[in-house]
Amino acid sequence: MLYHKFSLGDSRTLIAELYEDEIITFCPTCGKEHQLEPEEIADIINRGSDFVGTSYFCNGCYIKVVK
Ligand SMILES: [Zn+2]
Repeated sequence: MLYHKFSLGDSRTLIAELYEDEIITFCPTCGKEHQLEPEEIADIINRGSDFVGTSYFCNGCYIKVVK
């Protein structure tokens, strides 16, 4: 079992069970939610990228960016 551990900003710490189908991101343009597949998470790690610096555009916004 993996867990997500984070500070609530004071002395409290929250620890939550982490399931692979609960890892999401939001399109930086329109805010649409995207659930990350395990392969996408592995790709971020394999490229040496960090989670904070990684963005996933939804299909509609990606087409606008590429044009
Ligand atoms: Zn979008």
